[in-house]
Amino acid sequence: MRQPRVIRCAACAGRIKPQHPHIGVEDLGTGKEFSYHARSGCQIRAVEETATRLRAGKVYVMHHYHSSKCPDEAPGFGCAGGCFDTPMAAAN
Ligand SMILES: [Zn+2]
Ligand SMILES: [Zn+2]
Repeated sequence: MRQPRVIRCAACAGRIKPQHPHIGVEDLGTGKEFSYHARSGCQIRAVEETATRLRAGKVYVMHHYHSSKCPDEAPGFGCAGGCFDTPMAAAN
């Protein structure tokens, strides 16, 4: 009865492969996690939807899951693996 865990993007409803980079937005109230692709279109949706939910008084924490091939040991945005598009790069 073991079911493989299928992750779907909350922005485009496409499937996310667990070994590929993706974003998780965890609802600290329910433990439910929304997942999004790392590409910029889905990332922007993640940020917008999280902002909307935060305004509704919920508490979230955002996780960045890097590719299983990512060479950085403590990766962040702009990691050596290039996992995440950086739509906010202009802020520098
Ligand atoms: Zn997506
Ligand atoms: Zn990475």
